[in-house]
Amino acid sequence: MSDTWIDIDLDVIVSNYQEVVSRLRPGSQCMAVVKADAYGLGAVQVSLALAEAGCTAFAVTTVKEGLHLRKYGINGDILVLGPVSTEDVKDAILQNLQLTVSDFEMLELLEQFGSELSLAVNTHIKLETGMGRTGFLSQDLDKLTVCLRESSYIKPVGIYTHFARAAQRDKAYNSIQYERFNNGVEKLEASGISIPFKHVCNSAAFLDYPEWHLDLVRIGTLLIGHYPGPGFKRELKLRDPWVAKTKLVQIRDVPSGTYVGYQSTYKTKNATRLGVIPVGYSDGIGVEPHLTPQGFFDLLKIMLKNTALLFGVQLGREKMQINGQPVRLAGKIGMQLTVLDLGRVACQRGDEVIIPLRRTTANPRIVRRYWREGRIFSIRSIQEGFLPLHPECSN
Ligand SMILES: *Cc1c(COP(=O)(O)O)cnc(C)c1O
Repeated sequence: MSDTWIDIDLDVIVSNYQEVVSRLRPGSQCMAVVKADAYGLGAVQVSLALAEAGCTAFAVTTVKEGLHLRKYGINGDILVLGPVSTEDVKDAILQNLQLTVSDFEMLELLEQFGSELSLAVNTHIKLETGMGRTGFLSQDLDKLTVCLRESSYIKPVGIYTHFARAAQRDKAYNSIQYERFNNGVEKLEASGISIPFKHVCNSAAFLDYPEWHLDLVRIGTLLIGHYPGPGFKRELKLRDPWVAKTKLVQIRDVPSGTYVGYQSTYKTKNATRLGVIPVGYSDGIGVEPHLTPQGFFDLLKIMLKNTALLFGVQLGREKMQINGQPVRLAGKIGMQLTVLDLGRVACQRGDEVIIPLRRTTANPRIVRRYWREGRIFSIRSIQEGFLPLHPECSN
């Protein structure tokens, strides 16, 4: 066993999923968003556990991610949220991935491939309503209806949009987006195009707008055990499935006034014990996304946090922990070694240290241990190469 590892409890993810499902409006279903390797938790493992728990719909960003799930036996619906590149289209169709159509070029591309393969292309139409990213604008809708009616291979199974400010709980803006979405849907339906799955909610909108659950909700953040932001009522019993651990590889008694680390940013104030852990920023420790402050107080908070970190003090929730006790960082985080000021915390060499590693920036080199029903869970590829899964292919 290596000195640093990450334990991921799939049962906790399943339980978070069930919490979400228990709050669904009747008629709606939960699509598990497992993009970016399930937010760093492991897309295959998470999807397999959720499929076992009854989840039949998944979403990823790229075709590659979708094919990867297929390879490991995820047979449910897989929606590709991002744009599709030409070289991926054929595999995507053969593997029966559902593709997002967000502009006319893509519509044409998919129609062309559908015709070449003589296969229906299952698609979700994306409407752009205020995110400023991808999707058809309201002025595109007339042309879109014509294109959809004339197409022989594009089969719209869904239509959706994505909220820009749901986590900020901006009611006015969310409503504008929702109204634009509904207008778009109405326009398409008025011209005889019926689309079975309408969906708008991410985690934040799911919590705040039960009346917008529609046919399905697309949930990522809640599954990994987080609320999407401050201010949400903590009504779901969510738990964190993820813990990153390393071991103390050295402990040393030092006198007061000892400098620690590069640039000597830390100097012990008393005689104390310093512990060394074999992890650093190359593992993802202290690698934070650049935060854009939301207002003046947030700016102060971020400045304070960064200044404190410079002196080896971690503010905020995420701290190192040994035997249930918080310990402070001493000095700058190194490439692969980091020093802790152990103070009076009872511990010895070899003890486990819980480290604050962000899921999405934890180095993939670090060993992941998956747990399912109290046992280590491992996966294997079930498909060598790809057999076509499209229902119209006989295989
Ligand atoms: C990532 C994403 C989601 C999931 O968002 P969460 O807030 O993590 O639940 C839903 N829909 C789209 C289009 C996304 O890109």
